[in-house]
Amino acid sequence: MASLQLITYPHPTLRHRSKPIVRVDARLKEIVDEMFEIMYEFRGVGLAANQVNLPIRLFIANPSGDKEEGPELVFINPVINRAKGTAEAEEGCLSLPGVNAHVRRNKSLVVNAYDLNGNEINAEVDGFMGRIVQHEIDHLDGVLFIDRLTDEIRRPIADQIQAFETLFESKQKTGGIAQNEELQAELLEWERKYC
Ligand code: ZN
Repeated sequence: MASLQLITYPHPTLRHRSKPIVRVDARLKEIVDEMFEIMYEFRGVGLAANQVNLPIRLFIANPSGDKEEGPELVFINPVINRAKGTAEAEEGCLSLPGVNAHVRRNKSLVVNAYDLNGNEINAEVDGFMGRIVQHEIDHLDGVLFIDRLTDEIRRPIADQIQAFETLFESKQKTGGIAQNEELQAELLEWERKYC
């Protein structure tokens, strides 16, 4: 099987609302390992399955961004509960490299999920980790941080976003990226296997 690759905006899988995972197998554990490798390679602190072209409800995180330091966290079928307050801070995204902007999110929340061994996660998070969890769960719903910007904050980065769209279109035209129908068929195959 081909190894996973990071996809960038506006790849359609980033707009896909992922389905819950009902099966964890050895391959899925390998996928998670590969996702951590990719996240470290691109110097991220979180990575959602959509970002490696997989339509399944799973994300990984390491708030230190450091493989040696950890912790390496895996969230399967994550759900946000008891979200409270608001906080604003700058965010970026591995699927929009070089784009940064202030995003308003909840200040604290409880995340319920499962880890790879089927253990329940029930964690109250805030600060940086709270922001990672909200950013990554947005990915699983097909939402990007640029969707959450005020017009005023979006205006100065609109050209950057447009440049990603133009590049993607030209890659699809020249066959560097598959057509949407083909991409959709790949997602269905993954859903049949894990959802
Ligand atoms: Zn992101």
